This record gives sequence, structure tokens and C-alpha cells, in this order.
Amino acid sequence: MARIRAPRGTVDVFPEIPGTWRRLEETVRSVCRSAGYTEIRTPVFEYTELFQRGVGEGTDIVEKEMYTFLDKGERSITLRPEGTAPVVRAYLEHKMWAEPQPVKVYYIGPMFRYERPQLGRLRQHTQFGVEALGASSPVLDAEVISVLINVYQSLGLEGFVVRLNSIGCSKCRPRYKESLISLLSKQMDELCPDCRRRLDRNPLRVLDCKNERCKAIAKELPPIFDYLCEECCTHFEGVKRSLGVLDLTYELDPTIVRGLDYYTKTVFEVIHSGLGAQDALGGGGRYDGLAEELGGNPIPGVGFAAGIERAVQVLEDASGEGAGETSRVSVFVAAMGGSARLEAARIAHVLRKQGVSADLDYLDRSLRSQMKYADKQGVKKVVIIGEDELEAGEATVRDMVCREQVPVSFEKIVEFLLR
Ligand code: AMP
Repeated sequence: MARIRAPRGTVDVFPEIPGTWRRLEETVRSVCRSAGYTEIRTPVFEYTELFQRGVGEGTDIVEKEMYTFLDKGERSITLRPEGTAPVVRAYLEHKMWAEPQPVKVYYIGPMFRYERPQLGRLRQHTQFGVEALGASSPVLDAEVISVLINVYQSLGLEGFVVRLNSIGCSKCRPRYKESLISLLSKQMDELCPDCRRRLDRNPLRVLDCKNERCKAIAKELPPIFDYLCEECCTHFEGVKRSLGVLDLTYELDPTIVRGLDYYTKTVFEVIHSGLGAQDALGGGGRYDGLAEELGGNPIPGVGFAAGIERAVQVLEDASGEGAGETSRVSVFVAAMGGSARLEAARIAHVLRKQGVSADLDYLDRSLRSQMKYADKQGVKKVVIIGEDELEAGEATVRDMVCREQVPVSFEKIVEFLLR
């Protein structure tokens, strides 16, 4: 029978990686908690309409990347392609606007996008992100950026760059869009098919198009800074000043527009050159119009999302090896003979309940190969139980580091190992 493979664009994460992966998750949790963000877990699937309205009909995600299907009740369901719209949906649904503001949450979880898989681009990938809802202070934009930087710095990740831009609001952006449309219409034939198609709807996307010709055209376009209204200008100045106070470095980059419709004012990306073509580690921005788009009152919000697989890749590349788990357990209970094996199972069970990781043999290996196996696993101590030990009521405990052995009575073993 043909062997079943994992779907295209998905990966299995192997035991060497989870060490880095878990360190990353733990760092995310501790950095977020230290800034007052609490965890939220939204469903992995939502009604399709949430993303159509929240992310926007003209975006790559909604146009071509969503995993959408009808469930048995004929409802259109979509596997979550991003985390912000679900968080804002939850905020409105659970009336979190009635709680003290801002509501600050973080999440870690899988996202699904039907993209062409390549290095750094998966169909199921994992993101961590934060959302801060209910406050429009530019200091909060800077806080969100600082949380992301803090995660990378706490992990010792180096070589990333923060790129910052403002894409204005519903008052000033239309004027900029009009200018872009009028300038770009003259060079329509030179744009890539994607940019040509979306010129009327979303001319800002030309600014971050990866096509070389579009990039050259984008370089000559006026930056949005010249078009920002007073409110957006003041806000942008506030963000820059706050980042300065926090001593965070960034580059201004008018080509950062983010792919999604919901952004207003601040947008940013964190790039790492070690990642190749897919060089974004994370990105985010302010989305003051999103809550209204989802049927709520106007609620300001700001957040970021960052890829876990890409950060793991950078960390692994930097450490030069899988910074993963070397030892699965700290104690191995080796036994010879049926009754001794049962006693080994009992001791391992008690140790585990006391918080000491322990394992034993299930393949009827000889004592010699059990010792070899334990050594390979990198355990610190081996408890040896043979028929003689059983009779004497004592096990031999071998220290695998200094290679010394001592007899310890069965009653005292757990206490001895806990020490
Ligand atoms: P985005 O919302 O598209 O900016 O995604 C946020 C972050 O998630 C990106 O900066 C990437 O690090 C990561 N990411 C997005 N799409 C993928 C993908 N298809 N495969 C792996 N990582 C991704």
C-alpha cells in the first residue's frame, strides 16, 4: 500500500527542535506577562466572513490563500490565516470594552495559508502575537514594538532590523492612493500582472511588491509621509519619540505597507537578512478601523504577529546545531528479571510523581545494553535492580557523570535521588 505523506507545506517538528521552540514560547510568555499581556486562545477556525470583512477582500490572504470549506451545516468556515481579526471578534463578542482599557492579550498558535510552499513559507505555520485594544496612544504602538524586540533580544537573536512607516488613516490615505493611481496609470504596462490588477483597489501594494521592475517604479514614488494628515503626523511623531525614549533603533521605510486592509497609521516589520527571500520575522501595526468593520463600535487597536518557524531557523543557524534536548530524562531505572522490572516500573512511577523525570527498559535488553542505552540518552543517574538487589532490598545507584556506585535501600531511593 502507498505510504501516506504529510500534506504539502506542512512540517513535523522533531525532538531536537522543541528545545529551541519551547524556549521561544517560554520567552514570549514571560516577556508578554512582564508588559501586562495575558494569554488568549481563539478557535483554529472561524466563519469565513470574519476574514473577508476583517482582513479585506482585496488582500492576497482573502483572494487566494484561505483554507475555506462548507461544514456539514453548509456554513462557510475558514481555517484561521491570521490572529488579529479573531482577537478583535472575541473582544467584541465578550464585551471586553466594558473592562478597564486597554485590553492587552497575546497568543501563540497555528495559522493556515494556501501559499506556494518554499523555504520559510509553509501552509501551516505558527505565530505568536500581541494585541492591545482600547487605547490610541502612540506610546502603546512603541510598547508593542518593544515587546517584539524584547522577545528577540531575550533569546539572544541578533541581526534583525525594525522598519517603520505610517500608512495614514481614512482621512489622508485616499488622497495618497489617488496620487499613486494617477502616477502609476502612466506606467501601467510596466507593472507586474498582480499590481496591474489591484491598482485601482490597493495601489499601496505596489510599494512592497517583490517584482524587480515594480520595486524600481516604487522607488520613484513620493513617500506617504508628505500626505499624512495632522493627526497621523502627530501620532507618527509620538511613536518615533517613544521609540527614542525606549532606546529602540529602527529605520523609516515608506515601502512597508503590510498586506492587510485593516492597518491605519503605524505599520512596522522586523526583517532578518539570514532568512533569504522570506525575510520577515514579524510585523504589525495599528488598526483603528477594524472593530467597526466587524460590527462593533470604533475601538482603536495595535498589535504584531511573528513567525515561530522563522525565528527558530535564525536561532538554530546562529547556534550551529539543534539547541534541543540532549537528555530526555534524568534517571534511568535498569532492571534484570521479571520482578525487578516491576519494581523498576514502580520506582520510575514514584520518581515521576515527585517531579524527577525517569524512564526504564521495555525491550527486554540485557543489563549491559540498558546501561549503554541510558548513557546514550545522557541520563545523570541509573538505578540498577537485579535479583540480588531485590533480595537484599537495596538498589545500586550509579552516577553516570563521576561513574561511582552506591547501594541505597528501596525505601530511601526516591529521597536519595531527590537530593
Ligand atoms: P504576516 O501577518 O503575513 O505579516 O505574518 C506574520 C509573520 O508570520 C511573518 O512575519 C512571518 O514571520 C510569519 N509567516 C507568515 N506567513 C508565513 C508562512 N506562510 N510560513 C511561515 N511563516 C509565515
